[in-house]
Amino acid sequence: MHNPLNSEQRLALLAKSGSIRPWKSCHERRRCVACDRVFQGFDIRISARASGVPRLRCPTPGCHSGPEMWVHPGDPLISEEAWNDWELLVKAVEASEAKSATASA
Ligand SMILES: [Zn+2]
Repeated sequence: MHNPLNSEQRLALLAKSGSIRPWKSCHERRRCVACDRVFQGFDIRISARASGVPRLRCPTPGCHSGPEMWVHPGDPLISEEAWNDWELLVKAVEASEAKSATASA
């Protein structure tokens, strides 16, 4: 499915997505700590939530990570302790998504 957003609209969404690293261009790359994929801003899946707030997702099928889990490809490897925190975060995000998917509001 194609995303109707143009690159400026996409960048505007990325810029306010809450990412640790601010996006300056859709050509920038990020690494997803959940699936280890490196992707460009253009690759990110964007969908609208029922609330109208856009949801940004990792381009990897089946990966539900969002902007808070994307690091700069040049960042040093995260420690095992930090990785455990990420795993907890992923579970928390997935749990909240399962909840919001069943709620109609
Ligand atoms: Zn991912």
